[in-house]
Amino acid sequence: MKIIAYGIREDERPYVENWQWANPDVELVCTGKLLDVESAELARGCDGVVAYQQKSYSADLLKRLHEMNIHNLSLRNVGIDNVDVEAAVKYSFKITNVPVYSPAAIAEFGVTQLLNLLRRTKEYQAKFAKRDYRWAPNISKELNQQTVGIVGAGHIGRVMAHICRGFGARVMVYNHRPKPDLVKAGVFTDSLDELYKESTVISLHVPAVKSTYHMLNRDAFAKMQKGVLIVNMSRGSLIDEQDLIAALDSGQVGGAALDVLEDETKIFNKDMANQPSNYPAFDDLNQRENVLITPHTAFYTDEAVRNMVEQSLDANRELILTGASDKMVSLA
Ligand code: NAD
Repeated sequence: MKIIAYGIREDERPYVENWQWANPDVELVCTGKLLDVESAELARGCDGVVAYQQKSYSADLLKRLHEMNIHNLSLRNVGIDNVDVEAAVKYSFKITNVPVYSPAAIAEFGVTQLLNLLRRTKEYQAKFAKRDYRWAPNISKELNQQTVGIVGAGHIGRVMAHICRGFGARVMVYNHRPKPDLVKAGVFTDSLDELYKESTVISLHVPAVKSTYHMLNRDAFAKMQKGVLIVNMSRGSLIDEQDLIAALDSGQVGGAALDVLEDETKIFNKDMANQPSNYPAFDDLNQRENVLITPHTAFYTDEAVRNMVEQSLDANRELILTGASDKMVSLA
């Protein structure tokens, strides 16, 4: 059995090598190249393909793999938004993903950035750079005094809630489908408006779908407490960035920690030294001392990367051996 893994980064190599050692029945080929119509030729003779990329898995690419009789595709990440699903069905692909690689990685980073907002660390760093070592007037707030409104009670939102409660914060959780265990624990609300009204911090943990597109917009900000802090570790499209800028200008929003942006593919994971971003909303947000932007790094931990590598390779091997895997994505 032969598998090719595309887009393998240096930080993934130790986990790939470990996996190969534990699975001697597989001939594993690795390349740093991303998978596209040209590099697809490297997969000739393979039974399965493993990949992780923002580049699209286009109809042409899937057709190319199909012509080489390759139909097992395992993604090392969650989303299949860059897969041409229609073509995947047409060419009889079986696709797996890694739906849960480390919720703690994202939740811990969300709390880290929330603490950075509360403790105003970006402001202190700016003062330090100017050799200004006075503490006033940048007085901080404590997490244990906050009401943290968590939108989305899935894998990550739940860990975020747990950690915030551990800090002594009051936590409210909203999910579009009620969660009986959270109702029982007394932290669930079925009213997003109530969560907006009560929270001093709002943290987003819902997927990017039609119903969540720009869910934080001018109307939503108007329902929140003045000076509310926003944490978005989920997807950029959840926030209307122009409305966020206006809310920061007016002080309605007191700060934001953003690991994701709506047009992040323009800049994230690229070396942009000496290049204009061509992303005015990013430039505006990024120069603010109460806005912390990170380039979609919340997931990027040893544990998460190991899980993404091992689980995708396991799933691909399973697809080849049995024709199925519990990580198979429904293409219906
Ligand atoms: P999940 O599927 O486990 O949980 C999502 C929750 O949101 C579910 O409980 C679902 O019922 C709920 N939901 C869906 N639509 C909703 C709506 N309209 N209103 C309220 N609740 C709604 O997902 P997860 O693994 O917890 O991931 C959450 C988000 O984090 C996703 O957007 C994901 O893409 C993002 N993410 C970001 C990173 C990063 O590095 N920044 C890494 C992984 C995941």
